Amino acid sequence: MEGIIFNIQHYSIHDGPGIRTSVFFKGCPMNCWWCHNPESQNPLIEEFYKSNSTAKVKEKQIIGKKTTVDELYNEIIKDRIFYNESGGGVTFTGGEPLMQSEFLISILKKCKENGIHTALDTSGFSSENIFNSIIDLVDLFLYDIKFIDEYLHKKYTGVSNKQIIKNLKILSESKKEVFIRIPIIPKITETKENIKQIIDFLKEINILKNICLLAYHKISESKYERFNMNYKLKGIKPPSKERLNEIREYFSKAGFNVTIGG
Ligand code: SF4
Repeated sequence: MEGIIFNIQHYSIHDGPGIRTSVFFKGCPMNCWWCHNPESQNPLIEEFYKSNSTAKVKEKQIIGKKTTVDELYNEIIKDRIFYNESGGGVTFTGGEPLMQSEFLISILKKCKENGIHTALDTSGFSSENIFNSIIDLVDLFLYDIKFIDEYLHKKYTGVSNKQIIKNLKILSESKKEVFIRIPIIPKITETKENIKQIIDFLKEINILKNICLLAYHKISESKYERFNMNYKLKGIKPPSKERLNEIREYFSKAGFNVTIGG
């Protein structure tokens, strides 16, 4: 079985505990305005041409490559010694890994059989069947929540959040370890109302206590230009430290454990 990935990052320390290998799956059903990996959204292998100002030629860049479960596993186990020493493992991210569910299930099984800690960084956007079939294979979920309001979710991500919310409720009943990740995008997700709605919703699911606030940054802006894509957040500045601390306080006061960053 083959899957399509677009990057493998070794020695990653922001996608779960310890030292990890992050595997980036290609393809995402969403289209978030702030996406840091816009080249991940199309599920197919793509060719881009970037101008090389020195040589005055266009340089071809291929995003995505096919890989088998065994090839990917062999790449993941290279760092086994670091996982063992640091309490790390592998994190599947993207894009949205659940979009390649069969491939994801196969590689998760292989990692589990060999005792490697598995984390899944997901938007939660998938059918209930698929979601149920991966729960037991994942040790830690990094689960994104962007909006509770469906209209805003559709506006800024392109899809409804109904299934995302349903899957999170299923996950909460599974007693798995979950970190809720909230992108803090000024004037979009960081509004007082949205933060309050997220807090109220999470309080209902009272076992999910770990929150990560992911501050918007502009590092990926140049990618949009490079890949000839429209960047909708031009002019938006990253949130200030004060605002991040304020939001952290709202969550802390409501009884959550909050970290800023991955
Ligand atoms: S869910 Fe993640 S990968 Fe998909 S578009 Fe949104 S930010 Fe990008």
